[in-house]
Amino acid sequence: MSSWDKRSPAQQSKDQQAALKAQLVDAVGPFSPFWRGRFKAVGTTAAKAAADLTSIAPVGERDVCPDGDPNGAASLVLQAGESGWALHADGPRLRRAMASRIARPDSYQAVVEADTRPTSFVFAGLGLRYPIASTRADLDVVARAGARLWQVLGLSRDDVLVAAMAPEASATYQGLNLAALGAGSPAMFPGDDPDEVAAALRLVPATVLALHTDTAEETLDDLDEAGAPMNSVTTVLLVGAPSDAERAAVREALDRAGISPRLLAVHVPEGHRLLWGECAEGTGLHTYPDLEIVQLVDPETGETNDGEGPDEVVVTQLCLRGSALLRWRTGDLADSLLTSTCTCGRTVPRLTGVRRHALVPLLALRSGHRGVDLRGLAAALDGRADLADWRIVVGPSPRDDHDEVVVHVVPSAGEDSADLAVAVARDVRAAAGLLPTQVVVDEPGQLPDGDRISRRVHQRV
Ligand SMILES: [Zn+2]
Repeated sequence: MSSWDKRSPAQQSKDQQAALKAQLVDAVGPFSPFWRGRFKAVGTTAAKAAADLTSIAPVGERDVCPDGDPNGAASLVLQAGESGWALHADGPRLRRAMASRIARPDSYQAVVEADTRPTSFVFAGLGLRYPIASTRADLDVVARAGARLWQVLGLSRDDVLVAAMAPEASATYQGLNLAALGAGSPAMFPGDDPDEVAAALRLVPATVLALHTDTAEETLDDLDEAGAPMNSVTTVLLVGAPSDAERAAVREALDRAGISPRLLAVHVPEGHRLLWGECAEGTGLHTYPDLEIVQLVDPETGETNDGEGPDEVVVTQLCLRGSALLRWRTGDLADSLLTSTCTCGRTVPRLTGVRRHALVPLLALRSGHRGVDLRGLAAALDGRADLADWRIVVGPSPRDDHDEVVVHVVPSAGEDSADLAVAVARDVRAAAGLLPTQVVVDEPGQLPDGDRISRRVHQRV
């Protein structure tokens, strides 16, 4: 029997198909209020969706919480009673529950609850903040995936983790905790105050130091200044899919501190619960093909990857049961999903060039700081008959320190420019809850360029 990370692409896809069918037909189809309604609305069934996953349009936080009310996220949580569960539970699981019910009459309910009852919550979200529920069985899956993460990262139970992270109800914090637990490694979470982290480093000979990508450089400088002992650290985990520039900045901070550990990325996309890691710098985030299906889509249309990157990362969970994500739009961009065998010998799909939260950047608008969902903006412009072409350009204003969202449009023949500008501004506001800073009507061939976030959404350079 080959292990989870060495199966051939053909075996992986066969296993995924079986697991997807079980997840959709036994769990998501009958028990997810959101997906039950969605399947009905588009005239499909869980079985049909399982047969062709790409037939289901991907959804994100705005689809589940259309008016920004986080209560919408509750509709992703599977809601199963004992009798419903018995109808839909897969065979082996049901047989185990029935057998234990004969031995211990109360245990049946315990098995059902372990499988269906949300007992633990983290918060996620880019444009809004919503809860993600885990059952006890889910936490086992997260811990099991965490033990695998340790393998991918080349760590063992002899490694000692110090995580410079504030306690927070996030999938990252929970995932790292459960990973150390699952791998059997001692782990300390002293918070993000550098003095407290330095104190923890004096208490234990840490071999692994976990830092948030956003604050890693600053934290390392603070630890160095506080004289924290870091010579035992052989691995630094950068949590949150660092860019090349962020890695380089952290590498320089490590040089200043006089240490040269391995620098490895770990990341969990928003809404998901399994932490991905890389086996060596730049090899890509290794995913878990028996626990999830990772796909790339065009971020403007949500349609299957057209080869014109960058693309959005979409996740379908195969065995998580509290909040069950199907074709979930993470808001992360990636350059590619590699399926070739990695240098470590693993055959699992790997994501390269991941840019966390790139599709919902936090902008400093004149009206205040907020996460702006560029997918919603693009959706308001995509496929309009009155537009020949369009671009959205976001970035710092040439006039002051604020960010701007400028929509450039080329009218279709015969359209009135002034009317069009008004209609576009109105529709963008309706779709994304944001009035563009400016709508510019351009001649064909005059559309501006920039760093591509997606095909037609650019960042000012
Ligand atoms: Zn590898």
